[in-house]
Amino acid sequence: MSDFYQLLGVDRGATQDEIKKAYRKIARELHPDVNPDPEVQNKFKEVTAAYDALSDPQKRQQYDMGGRGGFGGGFGGGGFSDIMDAFFGGGGNRGPRPRMRQGQDALIRIEVDLNEACFGTERDITLESAVVCEDCEGQGTANNSHPETCPVCKGRGEMQFVQKSFLGQVMTSRPCNNCSGYGTVITDPCRECAGDGRVRAKQTINIKIPAGVETGNRIQMSGRGEVGAGGGPAGDLYVEIVEKNHDFLLRDGENLHIAISIPFAAATLGTTVNIETLDGPTKVQIKGGIESGSTIPIKGKGMTRLRSNHRGDLIVHVDIETPHKLSREEEKLLRAFSNARGEKEGDVKIKRHEDGLFAKFRDAFNR
Ligand SMILES: [Zn+2]
Ligand SMILES: [Zn+2]
Repeated sequence: MSDFYQLLGVDRGATQDEIKKAYRKIARELHPDVNPDPEVQNKFKEVTAAYDALSDPQKRQQYDMGGRGGFGGGFGGGGFSDIMDAFFGGGGNRGPRPRMRQGQDALIRIEVDLNEACFGTERDITLESAVVCEDCEGQGTANNSHPETCPVCKGRGEMQFVQKSFLGQVMTSRPCNNCSGYGTVITDPCRECAGDGRVRAKQTINIKIPAGVETGNRIQMSGRGEVGAGGGPAGDLYVEIVEKNHDFLLRDGENLHIAISIPFAAATLGTTVNIETLDGPTKVQIKGGIESGSTIPIKGKGMTRLRSNHRGDLIVHVDIETPHKLSREEEKLLRAFSNARGEKEGDVKIKRHEDGLFAKFRDAFNR
């Protein structure tokens, strides 16, 4: 590593002003915008490190006292880029940017009913999207012409400006206005897409929705999103599932729930009822003496598990209807029934924790 004073071409007694002037002069010759040669850039980094050390009185004193250790590498902790940013307004990517770009992903939502969510379905969806311009095949140019080198930036995609800073005049660069940084201009743009290489068009896409989907699931369709500018590859299309509520079936993951009510006499005597399921009407046997709030699981009549053939259960919640208004005849029969069972006015039983309904409540709360 060369001596910092030698690098800047000043003697050891140079004033801060002289050091600054010396660096300014060298920076103008060696700045990356003027001379991108890697060897020159290494030299520029060394000089900048020297300036970093000598322009700070404290660091300079350390250096003068022989404390080179701290300056061995020159630019610990990003010192170099800090200086670069302070003096020249950041680095950034250099050279022209490509016209061809990756297309955007697209997201659509589709509603499915419970039946479709359980068994899967297919949909043809028509949507407007960016597609490759057929007239120019994505090139953006008319009549088989080609983009021409930008006359303003000579194909570099950036323009250099002389900027005044405390270092004096330094060169800095910005994307070229004439070509928007592409380095080329389309002199004869395609009439159809105005040079973008793509147009908006309606397209119909067939979407296969697998059995077992639920709200929030996304189906990824590779390459079915918007195509990119300049004939760039298309992004992906995501189809998000929104499940519509069913009139009487309630979904809980793989299981379905249905609530029914049966007359008091049927609950006492036992009965068979027909209920609607996703698989059509199904008979459910109800044993005599069932209590209100009981559940009867029907195996395999719930929802399909995604990517498998497994089906959850349909849980039937049974409510028992207590008759509200009784005719004279009904009241007579019911009182006769009550007497026959030896029931008395004011009969009541306190239930222990283990008993039916209470246990069910407790289980429901502890779940
Ligand atoms: Zn240009
Ligand atoms: Zn076109």
